[in-house]
Amino acid sequence: MLDLRSLEYVEVEELVLGLGGKKYRAKQIYNYLARGCTSIDDMLQLPQDFREKLKEEAYICKTDIYRKFESKVDSTRKYLIELEDGNLIETVLMIYKNGPSVCISTQVGCRMGCKFCASTVDGLIRNLTPGEILGQLITVQKDLGERVANIVIMGSGEPFDNYNNLIKFLKVVHEEQGMQLGYRHITVSTCGLVPKIKELQAWNIPINLAISLHQVDQAKREKIMPIARTYSVEEVVAAGKEYAEFTKRRVTYEYALIEDVTDSLEEAHKLGKMLKGSLSMVNLIPINPIKENSFKKPNIFRIKAFQTVLLNYHVITTVRRELGADINGACGQLRRDVIRKEQR
Ligand code: SAH
Repeated sequence: MLDLRSLEYVEVEELVLGLGGKKYRAKQIYNYLARGCTSIDDMLQLPQDFREKLKEEAYICKTDIYRKFESKVDSTRKYLIELEDGNLIETVLMIYKNGPSVCISTQVGCRMGCKFCASTVDGLIRNLTPGEILGQLITVQKDLGERVANIVIMGSGEPFDNYNNLIKFLKVVHEEQGMQLGYRHITVSTCGLVPKIKELQAWNIPINLAISLHQVDQAKREKIMPIARTYSVEEVVAAGKEYAEFTKRRVTYEYALIEDVTDSLEEAHKLGKMLKGSLSMVNLIPINPIKENSFKKPNIFRIKAFQTVLLNYHVITTVRRELGADINGACGQLRRDVIRKEQR
């Protein structure tokens, strides 16, 4: 069986023609999908006998809203989305000045093992299919009732550890007959799988890259991010700089501020020297404490001091605003909480 949401437009055309349908049916199908249609039975523009034939070959993957948490302090919404096999994933909607933005997951769980992250505590459960990655956007956009302007692939999972499905998703979400999302409006975030950064670069599309660096000192980075043992800080930053030069897109370096772990000013100077003069920016993320460890957020003065050092190197540096603080349960925590409490 084929998941319609995992198919590129030409593939839907092939499917339609193979079933003896007219080519324009593909457009109708793609249109239904983009508007959030969840069942072939609801595609009423298609003749009934064609719908029956289509159902023998294809289906629409499930990405239903299982629970929705709406912030009372801002307009952030967090969704727990249920998949066909009962797995739950997190998708977040944030409203910014430049429009609604959705943070999307690529895996159920994660196997990268970063010490500060809740998504990785139980390891990788499975990869999401291209249709399930797309389905998150479709479901949230339908719930919002408004076009989503940007997406960040920064939810649970390591996108580059699910590379082929990620690429297929990017092709599908970009399709003119479908969601029509421009690559400039998409950001992919990685903990630093260098060969995949190079592969994405070789594809030569104007997609934004974010690298979760979090620590500049090699030995210290290895302690909190096991991936650093495979790809060094030096290699990751070199790959980021090359990506920026090649694509002319500013690369974002995410830097989690953890009290007494990553927040020393010495570290800030090293980072500043490293990025000075390159097409880059730093996004400082005061760490979200999770139950599984004792990491703490530094106080505001330390955060500001760290930022000031970087600014002095003329490195654009922002501090991530905490959105939806009242519904937080940091990255990957919502899912764990609900699974635990409801014994799913
Ligand atoms: N695997 C990818 C994308 C998912 S993680 C990556 O590593 O980039 C998205 C971002 O959230 C990463 O920068 C990650 O390091 C960060 N993150 C994970 N746990 C966090 C926590 N407890 N507090 C703050 N940021 C966290």
